[in-house]
Amino acid sequence: MQDTPLTNLLLAPWDTSYGLPPFDAIRPTHFEPAFEAAMRAHRAELDAIAANPEPPGFDNTIAAFDASGRLFARIDMLFANLAASATSPELQAVERAMAAPLAAHANAIYMHAALFARIDAVHAARREFTLDAQQLRLVERVHLDFVRAGACLPSDKRLRYGKVMEQLAELTTQFAQNVLADENGYSLVLRTEEELAGLPAFVRAAARQAARERGIDGDAHVITLSRSSILPFLTFSERRDLREQAWRAWTTRGEHDGAHDNRPIAREILALRNDQARAHGYSNYADYALGDSMALTQDAVMGLLEKVWAPAKARAQSELDELCTLAHARGDNPAIEAWDWRYYAEKLRQQRYQLDEAQLKPYFPLERMVQALFDCALRLFGVDFVEQPQIGAYHPDVKVYEVRAAAGDGAGKLVGIFLHDNFARAGKRSGAWMSSLRWQSSRGPQGDVLPIILNNNNFAKGSPGEPTLLSFDDARALFHEFGHGLHGLLSNVGYDRLSGVQVLRDFVELPSQLFEHWLFEPQVLKRHARHVQTGEPIPDALIDKIRAAERFNQGYETVRYTASALLDMAAHAQDSPEGIDITAFEQAELARLGVPPAVGVNHRLAHFQHLFSTSGYAAGYYVYMWAEVLEADAFDAFRQAGDPFDPVLAKRLRDCIYSAGNAVEPGATFRAFRGRAATVEPMLRERGLLD
Ligand SMILES: [Zn+2]
Repeated sequence: MQDTPLTNLLLAPWDTSYGLPPFDAIRPTHFEPAFEAAMRAHRAELDAIAANPEPPGFDNTIAAFDASGRLFARIDMLFANLAASATSPELQAVERAMAAPLAAHANAIYMHAALFARIDAVHAARREFTLDAQQLRLVERVHLDFVRAGACLPSDKRLRYGKVMEQLAELTTQFAQNVLADENGYSLVLRTEEELAGLPAFVRAAARQAARERGIDGDAHVITLSRSSILPFLTFSERRDLREQAWRAWTTRGEHDGAHDNRPIAREILALRNDQARAHGYSNYADYALGDSMALTQDAVMGLLEKVWAPAKARAQSELDELCTLAHARGDNPAIEAWDWRYYAEKLRQQRYQLDEAQLKPYFPLERMVQALFDCALRLFGVDFVEQPQIGAYHPDVKVYEVRAAAGDGAGKLVGIFLHDNFARAGKRSGAWMSSLRWQSSRGPQGDVLPIILNNNNFAKGSPGEPTLLSFDDARALFHEFGHGLHGLLSNVGYDRLSGVQVLRDFVELPSQLFEHWLFEPQVLKRHARHVQTGEPIPDALIDKIRAAERFNQGYETVRYTASALLDMAAHAQDSPEGIDITAFEQAELARLGVPPAVGVNHRLAHFQHLFSTSGYAAGYYVYMWAEVLEADAFDAFRQAGDPFDPVLAKRLRDCIYSAGNAVEPGATFRAFRGRAATVEPMLRERGLLD
């Protein structure tokens, strides 16, 4: 039986600590009726703004729009979080059922002609109103959101535009499902010790688990096409023939004849995106996508990628020479193929740095690393994280923290709420991410609204009574996501749309990638990376090895990433992509660029999910490197100051980057922090691409 709106908890006021959702009492059956009611309420709010008899102004139109739809947003964010971290067949059914109505709701907002007429009027007269800088920014942001969603199109073109967007939504969903189908459809079953040769204990344990999950009995082990399975296999397996077989399966995902062939889908997506771009007056999709970015133009993106390209290729060539020498010395075939690179690189890494995962892990217990996060946040930004064990969330593993100002005028003041969900489990998607249940804002009708921010990781939990030990890469992911988390928690802006991580996509990885630097600081490692049994701080020699190994194999990694970014730009910069053969296009592009076959690319087009599973990173795979330029240059300021916790810099970093949200243009806010625009040299130096 369905609840009436009056008894549906999702629609009632949440009389809970900090306004957290009443997780315990919420049922999957609450969502569909609550979504329907909340969408109706949202549209009624928008109709009321549009029908206001007063002339359009900032408060009655722009601020009112920013404050609208709170009930809907609350349900939508909760649902997205549960669907990602604690899903169930019931929630997945709701997800499928709601996909189309939610898309239609977004369309109804941005195609609301009477509402847009008022927003457009305020935008046209924005210099005549008395607005402060942030209000002006909000007017421009909201207006641009509408324009880019098609609000300015003449009415005869809107129908076609809506169709294009619907088709794109369907095709991108299909693209992702095809990749998944090819991944699920393949398994490399290893039955003998000979077939397992070279695989260390942790790879065998995971392969055994994968076999059990697939109902394969006996002592069989299974390698799958998920990154966490295939990459360790390619790194450690002694069996060249099996490495080649697995590598071929991995790199041809989405490229097989039959029901899951992504080649025609990618081609159609490219063509539809060109329709979309042309509707907005651009001749290709890259120009349209970059129109709302920090880079702004293809020239700016290509300028960065080309600066990296030649030194990265040269570096990869010298790495290849070293691997050939090593293979030769071991009496192996010295011709390194794509399925050999990781294997020999790992041998060389062990030889050169003697860095062994098993030796490192005891120094990185999860609990201590979480303390390291909080300690860095305290020393940089003056905030305390205080656990609230009495408050539960959607799973017993999730820890809830109050974030409070530690010192100064507002000492003790609550800044936000942080939920930390660190462990892998059934019903939780893989990877690591930051999300939100509520964005910070201060100028809406409810006054000060505190952010509720989540970090999800997928660490394998220690056995009962045993600590969870992290790899160094795990610890790095922990710091990365916490950087995003701080970007949400420290947000200090007036309006919801400008809050936290809702910034341009080539700026959003700056706070996260930047925060990783503090993990590498010897004083942070000395204080927090302590042996799980003895409590001894990590030895200097091990710290030196970690830091030295950071630049190992960077030619390979940089070529793979940059080639993928260049391929993305080339695919989306075509003025008429209709009818192209994406495999032939890709081969021609990689040949033109001179990508060494032994290195290859991070993603081939037929399974390049960044580009084709959503439009989020289409003509946008470059953003990681763009943000890396900003981040490496920003951290250089601390290096030059000689103190990774320099208080003056830390205050400016908080004010200009972590608290500023989207309230200031990103280039301007970076310059306010650094005293100048970013330069590319620190990034090149970090990757070992400068002499
Ligand atoms: Zn990130």
